[in-house]
Amino acid sequence: MPKPKHISDGSQSPLLEEHHHNNSSHDKPKPPLVKYGELVILGYNGSLPPGDRGRRRSKFVLYKRATANGVKRSKHYVVKTPHSSQAILDSNQHSISYTLSRTQAIIVEYMPDENTDMFQIGRSSESPIDFVVMDTVPGLGEKGSENKVLASTISRFACRILADRTNPHIVRIYAAGFDSSCNIFLGEKATKWQDSGEIDGLTTNGVLIMHPQSATSLHSQNAPSLGSDQQVAHDWNEVSVGGGIFKLRESRSAQQKGEAKTNVTNVLQDGTLIDLCGATLLWRSAEGLAKSPTKDYLEELVDKVNAGRPVCPVGLNTLVIPRKSGLDNEKQQPYVYLNCGHVQGHHSWGQEKDSNERCCPMCLKRGRVAKLSMGLEPAFYVDSGPPTLFAFNPCGHMATEKTVKYWTSVLIPHGTNGFNIFCPFCATLLEGYPGYIRLIFN
Ligand SMILES: [Zn+2]
Ligand SMILES: [Zn+2]
Repeated sequence: MPKPKHISDGSQSPLLEEHHHNNSSHDKPKPPLVKYGELVILGYNGSLPPGDRGRRRSKFVLYKRATANGVKRSKHYVVKTPHSSQAILDSNQHSISYTLSRTQAIIVEYMPDENTDMFQIGRSSESPIDFVVMDTVPGLGEKGSENKVLASTISRFACRILADRTNPHIVRIYAAGFDSSCNIFLGEKATKWQDSGEIDGLTTNGVLIMHPQSATSLHSQNAPSLGSDQQVAHDWNEVSVGGGIFKLRESRSAQQKGEAKTNVTNVLQDGTLIDLCGATLLWRSAEGLAKSPTKDYLEELVDKVNAGRPVCPVGLNTLVIPRKSGLDNEKQQPYVYLNCGHVQGHHSWGQEKDSNERCCPMCLKRGRVAKLSMGLEPAFYVDSGPPTLFAFNPCGHMATEKTVKYWTSVLIPHGTNGFNIFCPFCATLLEGYPGYIRLIFN
């Protein structure tokens, strides 16, 4: 039996492996793979806690497929009983059924589109789902346990993405995905409407997207400066089953759709966030990733700080930032005082009774202490900044200045009706102002 490939750095997609496998019997040289981009779940630091497995992983790379599998809208018609209509019964015919009443439904048939590749995302492990996404549990990222969510809010067939095979920069997102029988059903209660002869609708919890704002986009020269109070105003919108863009509903699953927005498209941009209600994905385009730091670069950054041989001011022992999570040596493990940024080793000096707070031996400021660990998921980085490191408060994940500023400026849906800022490496809600601290090594 072949050894299962349990651990992966996520840089290889199962599709890539399939692709190569299919070609292995030919002698023809393999054409270079065209990469559309990557989808990365916020809250994981390079892989899922138990390791990436098959279609369950922390990120998914979208490559041009060997053969197109996209579909496009063709005809539509009214039926009385959708479940017994030919398009629904034919499990090779893609169709979307919009139930209007107990006795009336509109079926929209979809036909093969040789110009697009389709990728589907959702909680289901059925084969039409390319990227299986479960609810994110904050702070679980590195503790090695499986996340167990009893009541998931993520749809089993949450969304689909269609990439243009002739112009790989055009990658569009749509709410809802086709099930194993190539159907999408919008029940009687789902929000739907007809507009100039075409029907469209929304899924229960919806798919929200936010394109990067020009002032704070990834790689922007004018990322918000230190101490500025520039949190990006909510510019989240909802994408419909047909790919239209709408303002947010009054509440996540309200019956009434938001107002149509004609100046926003469903074409993903480098840095677009996609919220599935329970997990948030970041889209990185192939070009955007080419400008981002690599994992090797981030490990070198850690080495540079370690080469300075930082010392604990109390124990006088040398501190070593672990290059990989889970490899920490408690004697050398650095901790940060979240109120002042002083980095020290593990000791009990300044520990207050019945309190999580400590008094910093360097500056006597009181505050909580967090174990430091490097943010190693390159897709979350905004720049390849100098080795001046910052840490998120309260989780202690380290990143570059622009990166911590970027993520503390982006409000992300939290629960079903709120927005918040959180650490992209572990999904912990950020605390205090500004939500990060500059590290001071000794
Ligand atoms: Zn201090
Ligand atoms: Zn974190």
